[in-house]
Amino acid sequence: MKKYNFNAGPSILPREVIEQTAQACLDFEGSGLSLMEISHRAKNFQPVVDEAVALFKELLDIPEGYSVLFLGGGASLQFCMLPYNFLEKKAAYLNTGVWATKAEKEAKLFGEVVEVASSKDRNFTYIPKDFTIPADADYLHITTNNTIYGTELRKDIDSPIPLMADMSSDILSRPVDVSKYTVIYGGAQKNLSMAGVTFVIIKNDALGKVSRQIPTMLNYETHIKKGSMFNTPPVVPIYSALMNLRYIKANGGVAAMDALAKQRADIVYSEIDRNRLFVGTAEEDSRSLMNITFVLKEEYKDLQDEFLAYATSQGMVGVKGHRDVGGFRASCYNAMSVEGCEALVKCMKEFEAKH
Ligand SMILES: *Cc1c(COP(=O)(O)O)cnc(C)c1O
Repeated sequence: MKKYNFNAGPSILPREVIEQTAQACLDFEGSGLSLMEISHRAKNFQPVVDEAVALFKELLDIPEGYSVLFLGGGASLQFCMLPYNFLEKKAAYLNTGVWATKAEKEAKLFGEVVEVASSKDRNFTYIPKDFTIPADADYLHITTNNTIYGTELRKDIDSPIPLMADMSSDILSRPVDVSKYTVIYGGAQKNLSMAGVTFVIIKNDALGKVSRQIPTMLNYETHIKKGSMFNTPPVVPIYSALMNLRYIKANGGVAAMDALAKQRADIVYSEIDRNRLFVGTAEEDSRSLMNITFVLKEEYKDLQDEFLAYATSQGMVGVKGHRDVGGFRASCYNAMSVEGCEALVKCMKEFEAKH
């Protein structure tokens, strides 16, 4: 039976990206050697990094003066690295979920943190609006897509102070006005590549302004100077990122990914709103196009395991909700097909007919 991968992360990638990466692990570009057993400084590997950086810049229309880095440590290391490099006295954080809270916690190790707003009062089911950004803070940190709660800030806000964004789970799913941001970062394993690499888009001239000493490996300047090659980078995840960037370009770029995301989300949310059994958990104006969260209505709550078992039997993979939300979550990253969303909707309709 055909399987549809709705995993939240690590998650679905285009089949051809997986096949091309697997092939490079067996024989890297006809060299007779595996990608796993060559030097990252080999003449035939440098073009992989160069092309990945160039494609990232092209697809997101990144202006002059920004660097694109491929680092280790996941988005979680960026929670620490970012304040290390940018927080002199005070930083502002928008708290929209568990990941945002974790980012905020790390920043507190480096200075004062102002929480400009939080949606914790209603279990992070919405993105707060109308908050005031303190003009004297060193930066504002936001999480554009809240993977666990299914909320998303799918636009580029204006900030009077440098704007830093965790875009782990919606990068390359829409056009972004990068000029509004000082740093955009994320783990690759949601919408870019396999696990093991972190992307960082960073405005070069924003660096070098904190007075503290920064350890070499945690200093963005180290990695900018060395083109992500200061130490051995995760070569296989970078290669699969390149294959995916090529795939995105060949399939119409981020504008096409955006249109597809809207089409997919419309299919699933329409069914959630129509179906007698289910209800969405995120407030309508905060709904994520990437992670669609829904639960059974109160009166049908005891059907939870049964729906999960039914959906699984029909080929749906990874639709169980995160424990903090319960219910179900359909993660619809770039590689998810419209057909996959239609298959999920079919399950929901059939399940409704049974009850
Ligand atoms: C998954 C996720 C993270 C954590 O990423 P790691 O690479 O595992 O550290 C951080 N932020 C968001 C929004 C995520 O979805």
